Amino acid sequence: MEYTLNRDFLLKLLSQVGPSGNEKAPSEVWQEEAKGFAKVYTDTHGNTYAEVGEGSPTLMLAGHIDEIGLMVRYIDDNGFVYLGPVGGWDPQVLVGQRVRFITKDGEILKGVIGRKPIHILKPEEREKAVKVEEVFVDFGLGKEDLLKKIEVGSYGVLDWDGEFLTEVRLVSRALDDRIGAFTVLEALRLYASAPADTRMVSVATVQEEIGLRGAKTSAFAVNPDVAIAVDVTVATDYPGVPKNQIGEVSLGKGPVLAVGPNINPVVVKLLKETAEEEGIEVQIEAIPRGTPTDANFIQITREGIPTALISIPCRYLHSPSEMVDVRDVEGAVRLIAAFARKVSGMKKEDFKPW
Ligand SMILES: [Zn+2]
Repeated sequence: MEYTLNRDFLLKLLSQVGPSGNEKAPSEVWQEEAKGFAKVYTDTHGNTYAEVGEGSPTLMLAGHIDEIGLMVRYIDDNGFVYLGPVGGWDPQVLVGQRVRFITKDGEILKGVIGRKPIHILKPEEREKAVKVEEVFVDFGLGKEDLLKKIEVGSYGVLDWDGEFLTEVRLVSRALDDRIGAFTVLEALRLYASAPADTRMVSVATVQEEIGLRGAKTSAFAVNPDVAIAVDVTVATDYPGVPKNQIGEVSLGKGPVLAVGPNINPVVVKLLKETAEEEGIEVQIEAIPRGTPTDANFIQITREGIPTALISIPCRYLHSPSEMVDVRDVEGAVRLIAAFARKVSGMKKEDFKPW
């Protein structure tokens, strides 16, 4: 099956502010797009579902729509705002950034992350890594005016959107995992253009970055016969990232199939066969534990769900300039749509590992 990247939808999805706990904006964009070709519904946790087909098996796809972000913890008398991290930050990337916060009215308020300048940093301070609680946001407003717009608990992200550096290299904040949420919906769209018996349910899951929480609730709700999570993984094709620890993962060499105890071997075998048949290059990543992705909780939902993980190689994870190669995304979309057709008519017990 042929597929060309839907760039407008992807860039629109990336520009939405959606830290774990307030995924409203990206979820609405995803839902609007899904309505064109799928049955769409939501739940009380915030997950969004898009469904095509009525037969067997039920194939669940999960891509998390949340991103790491920031939360207002304390506002001092002068209107300087102190932050709590939403998800796993390297605080070094915060210094000097601009931020985008969601106001009480759902508007965007911009600010800057401040820290004292190098001129007055003591020698020992220059050596030390900065901590989240040491930086603050300056919105350019006094406390009284600021409180009309934001409050303790307001959410924000760094002020960056998606941008193509070249025809195929995309940089953005929130590629982890807006690119997965994008992939699962595009795979559903491609499958919908030539559906088989498989009932395919793509889910934009919430709160992955704070403990895979949306995967837990949505997998229980869908109760699939087989599932695939789509996330990003650490590329090892740039300086300082050890291949001997992580293995070989490169941008532009295709989507990555995880193998290991979190992954059902029958599903992986079928994915490899599908890739072969469709002429899609794939990479293999060994993860000898529960993966830090939605696949982890999906696999151990109810009595167990045969689960796979497809990852998009990504450089500079959890920074405002994450980088992917969109050919890997196109490969993942085609692979999943073809897999959905290949497993058409199969039953859950067909995926027993032995
Ligand atoms: Zn992720």
